[in-house]
Amino acid sequence: VLFCLWAVCAEAEYLKYKDPKQPMPARIKDLMKRMTLEEKIGQMSQIEMRFASPDVMKQYFIGSVLSAPGNTPGPNATAEDWVNMVNKIQKTALSTRLGIPMIYGIDAMHGHNFAYNATIFPHNIGLGVTRDPDLVKRIGAATALEVRATGIPYAFAPSISVCRDPRWGRCYESYSEDINIVRAMTEIIPGLQGDVPANSSKGVPFVGGKSKVAACAKHYVADGGTERGIDAYNTVINRTSLFGIHMPAYYDSIIKGVSTVMLSFSSLNGQKMHANRHLVTRFLKDKLKFRGFVISDWEGINQITTPRDANYTYSVQAGILAGIDMVMIPNNYTDFIGNLTLLVKDNIIPMSRIDDAVERILRVKFILSLFEDPLADLSLVNQLGTQEHRELAREAVRKSLVLLKNGKITSQPLLPLPKKAPKILVAGTHADNLGYQCGGWTNQWQGVSGNNFTVGTTILSAIKKTVDPSTQVVYQQNPDANFVKSNEFDYAIVVVGEVPYAEMMGDSSNLTIPEPGPSTINNVCGAVKCVVVIVSGRPVVLEPYVEKIDAVVAAWLPGTEGQGVADVLFGDYGFTGKLARTWFKSVDQLPMNVGDRNYNPLFPFGFGLTTQAVKMNKKTALIP
Ligand code: BGC
Repeated sequence: VLFCLWAVCAEAEYLKYKDPKQPMPARIKDLMKRMTLEEKIGQMSQIEMRFASPDVMKQYFIGSVLSAPGNTPGPNATAEDWVNMVNKIQKTALSTRLGIPMIYGIDAMHGHNFAYNATIFPHNIGLGVTRDPDLVKRIGAATALEVRATGIPYAFAPSISVCRDPRWGRCYESYSEDINIVRAMTEIIPGLQGDVPANSSKGVPFVGGKSKVAACAKHYVADGGTERGIDAYNTVINRTSLFGIHMPAYYDSIIKGVSTVMLSFSSLNGQKMHANRHLVTRFLKDKLKFRGFVISDWEGINQITTPRDANYTYSVQAGILAGIDMVMIPNNYTDFIGNLTLLVKDNIIPMSRIDDAVERILRVKFILSLFEDPLADLSLVNQLGTQEHRELAREAVRKSLVLLKNGKITSQPLLPLPKKAPKILVAGTHADNLGYQCGGWTNQWQGVSGNNFTVGTTILSAIKKTVDPSTQVVYQQNPDANFVKSNEFDYAIVVVGEVPYAEMMGDSSNLTIPEPGPSTINNVCGAVKCVVVIVSGRPVVLEPYVEKIDAVVAAWLPGTEGQGVADVLFGDYGFTGKLARTWFKSVDQLPMNVGDRNYNPLFPFGFGLTTQAVKMNKKTALIP
């Protein structure tokens, strides 16, 4: 190539790594030969979007940027706003000496949950109930399209945790307490990334083009097994539980070409996973042949505090030597970069370890075609919150509901509800609250309350759309008993549950439905035939009320498409969901999982009543 400037012409250097005709390993090798230590450490650094100014990107050769929960280009940002923001950062990365593209990542746990107008799917706990891997794969594909619509090629999903104790604040991010269901649900990975080609070698990551994203299996490993369900705490288990319960979904994820694995904040038998060289390097990388990159969790390295006097330098050393390739710093990048540089210069961390990390990161970038095609275009912006994706979410909601009770011993089943009735009552804190319906990891880290943060259908508005036009729907959030008695309602629908939370903020030792939920149940269900719909991230204490309620539905955290709930309540579709978790009687029984001795739950794993539907949904790929 001939370049001319002011009549001085020079032959431009041929850059093998930029040549798409070269095989990927040769391109990676060529690029790495050209990189300085600074540039390599920059590749290993993931910083928060708020800090990704042109100066910082250029000075530190930053390789990755993330949207922390709630970090958006602005309130109600459009897909175009996102694309422009990501491209702006990308252009700075491309302007550095070697022009290595950065990779932008975001939490898309149940759809593209921080983007305005995105389709919010049920949280994993509801998807586990469906026992429908094909549905989950389609959800992965839809999520990939919505994330790509905003110019982002990397999602920190799925969570393949096996939650063994519902007191854990992240239990809803887990498909099931049962490893077979979690394994089946790793089908979300080919949904997000595309189907790994038949000839590809085990462990090599795969992403099938610009409508797919790099996925992230998390949190490695045994995050769902911590004592008393305390978030990021210690998991005390033997080899049989580790390799029989918590590890197998990683085998599937790797076979399905997962691009990245995120480490767990938690410890395993007293050792921080972020410092576990045996399980990260020897097992995941060497034995399982995982060739993508290992990413730390948020400031996960800072939490390596053993021995007790460990300082930050030691934490960086232990984390990188354990096998972390990319560090989600995400704010204190100067400290991280400074420390890692010195550790390498002092030969405490060998250059070969840095090269291993960088090679893995570059591999994912090449697989994503970021070198050929680094900038997002606007061709997918219409994919955010499409009608098709909303229909898919609605289907998922229908299949995720579990009918726990239908009629008292002496009475007829209450469900499906008649669409035509003179007057019905809808009550409860969760009947008309889209934020509550979506749960944590929606709009904000801890979730939100109210209906205006995005586009969607609340359960109340879905009920109104579903009943016969002649039916009068009376809505009162928390009616008193006299109000209920003095009106002659045909029946009532009470929607109550948990208020959104995420991570440790959701840890709970009592698992009760917060007030005024219980008073609403008492006031309404004592006076009129009622169905209680529970919106929650896990089983909750029900024993005190279950007798007086006519029908009980577990709706989990259904997301933006509340219409799916009404579809099933009113019999347009039948109830098909089966519990993917044990529904305990009292918290004293916890942890209690299917297969345990002394298993004495309120509703066992696999339980779920059915109803006749007008239309039957044919796609029911049930796991035996
Ligand atoms: C969570 C991860 C998440 C990360 C980035 C952490 O606190 O544990 O699951 O991907 O934050 O938001």
